[in-house]
Amino acid sequence: MEITFHGAARNVTGSKHLLRLNDGTTVLLDCGMFQGLGEQTDGMNEHFGFNPKKIDYLILSHAHIDHCGLIPRLVKEGFEGTIFCTSATMDLARILMMDSARIQMQDVEYTNKQRAKHGQSLLEALYNEDDAMAAMRLFKIVDYHQEYAISQRLRFKFTDAGHILGSAAVHITVFEDAKETHITFSGDVGRYGDLI
Ligand SMILES: [Zn+2]
Repeated sequence: MEITFHGAARNVTGSKHLLRLNDGTTVLLDCGMFQGLGEQTDGMNEHFGFNPKKIDYLILSHAHIDHCGLIPRLVKEGFEGTIFCTSATMDLARILMMDSARIQMQDVEYTNKQRAKHGQSLLEALYNEDDAMAAMRLFKIVDYHQEYAISQRLRFKFTDAGHILGSAAVHITVFEDAKETHITFSGDVGRYGDLI
């Protein structure tokens, strides 16, 4: 098994972590957008640093844009696997991804008017609302505390992370090389005993 980090490393946004099993099964934990790094952000969001077509599953910890904001881009670039999350995360992700698509389209439209005036090449949004809708078709709800077996070698369970509605820590169990390995991806952590 190999774990690589493609975001939320040396900064706090763009959460994306790749888990690759020995049998080739590849799971992405979160697919967040980089935010707030100025012009540098654009390039970082355009290139994943891995091939979306080679990812089998995505497990989403919660619906904040820095954790789910590049899912439509991932799908646009060929990801066709299942996206697992809690019920509330699915509802919130739909709203946030559609909102993000609209904001990007408006920003690009405005910027391109300026660029056209100066004879500069036109920019493209990372994704549009159709891409966000296409991504929603891949979502699958998994309830808290329900152990979900992706395969004989890989299972996971969500527990409440107390961060926002639907937020979860992801507890993964991998069976390979005649041993059992447990990995917990906390996502963003909130408070104990949070009412929502
Ligand atoms: Zn968050």
